Amino acid sequence: MKKAIIIGSGIGGLSTAVRLRARGFDVDVFEKNSFPGGKLSNIDVGKYRFNTGPSLFTMPHFVDELYELFNENPRDHFNYIKKDIMCKYFWDNGKKFVGYYDINKLADECKLKFGIDRSIILKYLEKSKKKYDLVENIFIKNSLHKLKNLISIDTLKALVKINTFQLFKTLNKVNEEELKNKYLVQIFNRFATYNGSSPYKTPGMMSAIQNAEKHYGSFIPVKGMGDITKSLYKLAKRHGVKFYFNREVDKIIIKNKKACGVKINNKELFSEIVVTNSDVYNTYRNLLNEKRKIKALEQERSSSAFIFNWGIKKVFKELDLHNIFFSNNYKEEFDYIFNKKQLYSDPTVYINITCKDLPNDSPKGCENWYVMVNSPYDNNQNWEKIKDELKISIVKKINKILSINIEEYIVEERIVTPQDIETSTNSYKGSLYGTSSNNIYSAFLRHPNFSPKITNLYFCGGSVHPGGGIPLCIMSGKIISEIV
Ligand SMILES: Cc1cc2nc3c(=O)[nH]c(=O)nc-3n(C[C@H](O)[C@H](O)[C@H](O)COP(=O)(O)OP(=O)(O)OC[C@H]3O[C@@H](n4cnc5c(N)ncnc54)[C@H](O)[C@@H]3O)c2cc1C
Repeated sequence: MKKAIIIGSGIGGLSTAVRLRARGFDVDVFEKNSFPGGKLSNIDVGKYRFNTGPSLFTMPHFVDELYELFNENPRDHFNYIKKDIMCKYFWDNGKKFVGYYDINKLADECKLKFGIDRSIILKYLEKSKKKYDLVENIFIKNSLHKLKNLISIDTLKALVKINTFQLFKTLNKVNEEELKNKYLVQIFNRFATYNGSSPYKTPGMMSAIQNAEKHYGSFIPVKGMGDITKSLYKLAKRHGVKFYFNREVDKIIIKNKKACGVKINNKELFSEIVVTNSDVYNTYRNLLNEKRKIKALEQERSSSAFIFNWGIKKVFKELDLHNIFFSNNYKEEFDYIFNKKQLYSDPTVYINITCKDLPNDSPKGCENWYVMVNSPYDNNQNWEKIKDELKISIVKKINKILSINIEEYIVEERIVTPQDIETSTNSYKGSLYGTSSNNIYSAFLRHPNFSPKITNLYFCGGSVHPGGGIPLCIMSGKIISEIV
């Protein structure tokens, strides 16, 4: 049996482990932390449970497929609820909008709240789906760096319809032209943040991203987000994958331009293939000790996040699982994040409250607030100082929108900075999604799932093709198993 060593047990590493095992490899996973999952995990603070990273779960069928590889029924091991309300949106001036999954309800809400004709939103969603469908097989489900995938019927179809992609306009421009309402534009601009980019830079093509949510729906696992990785860890173990925790890989062993194992604490371990789920930057600079200029490493990093986990001793009926309190000047906010590399004084505040669907996540009569703002990646900012200023801005926004003094209700607090994200998962500069998609070449410049120079070395996870976010990281494992 051929042996595969996987460095890291993030969602990308786990999905690759499961896929390689299904292909008959003997798989060993080495993880520097004491638990599996990387960014995708949970943490308890007092009596409250919080997500550590992702809070939005889309395209769950990608997880289900992993069980089906072993003829297991995913429903016997991993379950989730589909949300009717995908997100609630709030503005300082009292405007509110409910993002329904049901397309008719959504169109009615657009009419009711913004006076927008139903046909405008329906046409926009249909166009976004077309974009997604055209690129799914080229960009998402296959390697973009293998000639046979590029010379295909799917590529030909996409090339014929190249104008559909709106590559030469920004997402914001497309949204302004097509949605014709500043609130709707802001709602649909927000999807650029789903891969850590700016709507004022990323191409119009990115309206395809919201298809993952609007077409497939938004879900929450019944045992919490961390159960995505926990259940996959169990699946992998059940089928013979071996996991070694608290084992940080120091080096990838290369002999005659072939990867043949890893070095941990001066001990050499050998395998036929090596898969790295560690951030691509960390892999080249530290695990391969590679000093030369590499294009994929020079791309702009995606945004990061600043998170406050608050235990709140009150229930807010007007809030749901996902809530957005928008900034009054979205353009300036993104200018601060990507150009000035600073946090904006009136940030968009995202509040994730899992106890709305999973009551055991907080004590009765209380709520677990995961309060997140988009932040620049770590660029040696003074996070200690920023923390206090940011808390003031966030509290001000929440107090205004909910007409409350929220600080009176905070009974637990945990703070996570971009630096903490880097330390806990080796994600370069604390970026959430590897590199940003702030230009039309980004998808092509992301590192492939294999090494072009070193045989038997493969790359999975959010910092490489097809990109960050749970569904794409899972796809990276599928692509590797097919290339291997
Ligand atoms: C705050 C936040 C919010 C997010 N929100 C969402 C969301 O709502 N929806 C969504 O889909 N995505 C979201 N994301 C993005 C998503 O979390 C990531 O794209 C995805 O989880 C990354 O998975 P990965 O496979 O790249 O591995 P990672 O999660 O980055 O894990 C890599 C693993 O490798 C280990 N490792 C690294 N180096 C070594 C080494 N040398 N030796 C051994 N082990 C090593 C690390 O400890 C870690 O466990 C969010 C991310 C964050 C941080």
